[in-house]
Amino acid sequence: METIAQDLATIVGSDAVLTSAEDLVPYSFDGTAALRTRPSAVVFPRTSAQVAECVRLAAARGTPIVTRGSGTGLSGGSVPQKDSLVLCLTQMDQILDVDARNLTLRAQPGAITQRIDEAAGKHGLFYPPDPGSQRISTIGGNVAENSGGLRGLKYGVTRDYVMGLEVVLADGRVARLGSRCVKDVAGYSLKDLFVGSEGTLGIITEVLLKLVPRPAARRTMLALYDSIEDAAETVSAIVAARIIPCTLEFLDRMTAGCVEDFAHVGLPTDCDAVLLMETDGHPSAVADEAARMEAIAREHRARDVRAARDEAEGLQLAAARRNAFAALARRRPTTILEDVTVPRSELATMVRFIADTAASFNLQIGTFGHMGDGNLHPTFLTDERDEAEMERVHRALDAIFRRTIALGGTITGEHGVGLAKKPWLRLQTGDASFELMRQVKAALDPKGLLNPGKIFD
Ligand SMILES: Cc1cc2nc3c(=O)[nH]c(=O)nc-3n(C[C@H](O)[C@H](O)[C@H](O)COP(=O)(O)OP(=O)(O)OC[C@H]3O[C@@H](n4cnc5c(N)ncnc54)[C@H](O)[C@@H]3O)c2cc1C
Repeated sequence: METIAQDLATIVGSDAVLTSAEDLVPYSFDGTAALRTRPSAVVFPRTSAQVAECVRLAAARGTPIVTRGSGTGLSGGSVPQKDSLVLCLTQMDQILDVDARNLTLRAQPGAITQRIDEAAGKHGLFYPPDPGSQRISTIGGNVAENSGGLRGLKYGVTRDYVMGLEVVLADGRVARLGSRCVKDVAGYSLKDLFVGSEGTLGIITEVLLKLVPRPAARRTMLALYDSIEDAAETVSAIVAARIIPCTLEFLDRMTAGCVEDFAHVGLPTDCDAVLLMETDGHPSAVADEAARMEAIAREHRARDVRAARDEAEGLQLAAARRNAFAALARRRPTTILEDVTVPRSELATMVRFIADTAASFNLQIGTFGHMGDGNLHPTFLTDERDEAEMERVHRALDAIFRRTIALGGTITGEHGVGLAKKPWLRLQTGDASFELMRQVKAALDPKGLLNPGKIFD
């Protein structure tokens, strides 16, 4: 590895290559519990041309490459394999242009998600995908994971905003996919193949994103329940009433308690379920939707419905919800944040199943998530040093994934397969679709050098 490091230094400069053991430690894990492997080197390219040169060098030597953004992934996607080279794109963090006539934004892959929306906001425009990690995650990581967020119900996920990509392929060629055109059906939609590909098909070196007009008004409300089923039924009833709020987030009793301890925003700690509901758009439509949502919540036995006094309080409540992971993580040494999604009609069944699983395996599981999308984050509070407890965690996880699949759901709604979900992928997809994915991987990366061991073995 010493020689590849020297050759990498001739491409990017010696200040942009790390090889010492202590420098490599922060690049040996991501946000996923209990997964870590130290890479052989980390390189920080600053341009697409440098990425392409690094890839050509690694390909010539048969060195595996793990692309990394901010390392906030929750399925082990940027955890290196032994002897791999980490290509960390955080230095490529520029927003290249905002085209207010075409409603697009072009950025390098290391641009921070929240900065993208801030740049759009300066032109009265909006980049809606807002993962809970938006203050630190990169847009390249978001595209590679097809990340969702709190506004997914109304605005969709990252894929819905990707118009074009520049990608460095496994052999170092650079491909430009998609265009600024709203309509473009020239050939296969290759950009879509790379969205959600978890660094296994190519390295995203530039993104072209769609923007939309910034909503003029927003209203945030909290609905409090003594029963989880009532909260789940409220969500189904709101959707059935043809209301599409931008946010319908759920927190169970444990999560609401931890968030309140952490953020002190006035969340109740004595009810079984809290719904954070947000509507945005034209002011009169917002007022109408908020009133209808409040009425539906009360019809479904909400103990109370509180509206945020102003936008600042609304933002504070949404920010508190974004802290759910950090808040829960303070309870026990190890936090395993899961990511199952079920059809919305099955939400109440799934939430109850998770609670029953926690009781039967004697585990602490806090559940929160994007309930409007059917996307739940059962979060295990545990201790990876306790082998007996970890064994129960794995059995409980297996039960939750199998039940999810049986309900017509998916083992991951937004965090990706990575290392963490590999054992259940074939069970969900079936043999033909699983093999098709492997064929795509083999066609684009015949030597298996891009993020090996992720998604499939
Ligand atoms: C507190 C917290 C809250 C979160 N909330 C959400 C949420 O609401 N919704 C959600 O979807 N996720 C969420 N996540 C998960 C995570 O933030 C997202 O998956 C995010 O997109 C990862 O971005 P990153 O820059 O950290 O990527 P990394 O973790 O560095 O990488 C993720 C994957 O993308 C690949 N990759 C990264 N950059 C590139 C690139 N340029 N080209 C090709 N492949 C690349 C990596 O190889 C890896 O497989 C959360 C995580 C945390 C810690």
